[in-house]
Amino acid sequence: MGIFNNIINIIYPPRCILCHGFISTHNTLGLCSDCYSGFHRISSPFCPICGIPFNGSGENHLCGRCLKKRPFFDTIKAPYIYEGKIKQAIYTLKYEKNTLVADIIGPIVAEFVCKQIGENKNITVVPVPLHPKRLRKRGFNQSLLIARHIADALDARMDFLSLRRIQNTMPQAMLDKKDRRKNIRGAFRVKGHEPFKEKTVLLVDDVATTTNTLNECARVLKKAGAQRVMCAVIARTHNTI
Ligand SMILES: [Zn+2]
Ligand SMILES: [Zn+2]
Repeated sequence: MGIFNNIINIIYPPRCILCHGFISTHNTLGLCSDCYSGFHRISSPFCPICGIPFNGSGENHLCGRCLKKRPFFDTIKAPYIYEGKIKQAIYTLKYEKNTLVADIIGPIVAEFVCKQIGENKNITVVPVPLHPKRLRKRGFNQSLLIARHIADALDARMDFLSLRRIQNTMPQAMLDKKDRRKNIRGAFRVKGHEPFKEKTVLLVDDVATTTNTLNECARVLKKAGAQRVMCAVIARTHNTI
């Protein structure tokens, strides 16, 4: 097997998934060190609820928005700021439909989430669903691909059927702030017999920007009896616009 792999590596030397530069055969990450160092970790201080990072140094503290009105979710865990190479990786996954990216980023995010919340068999991992029409168009749900790695790492069960997207909303990026909230309201529904009653749910999405989508999912999940809704994303924007 070792010899076979060596021959494969000579014929097809491994390349970085983002910049396509050659990488060492010992690099199991699938990313070159330049690209990986272009993923910017979120560090304190940040808001412990919505995860938004603040400039400067100091303790974590609630942001003005969360102080004014608590969101329905309890917390968002995000390892990276949505910029640079991680933004490129998410674009490659979603729009160039390179699902190999999920196999590289997924374990990194899963390890981060595991460290943050600890192994927990009682968590139900729920990817933010796509509307069936968008799912058909893209061919896969990027949040589900990431959620799989998180569920594995937590040794938790995943439920990707009970939370449904019943409205095919406009992409949030095309709307202004006020319309984004309106756009997403009523877009999700819980199906089945009390699948989330008294459960702790870990919602998984690719990016958190306005957090309106996660908040609307959390509202619906809590209405369906979920006790706690935590969220995990690959990356989070600097602001909520
Ligand atoms: Zn690279
Ligand atoms: Zn906040």
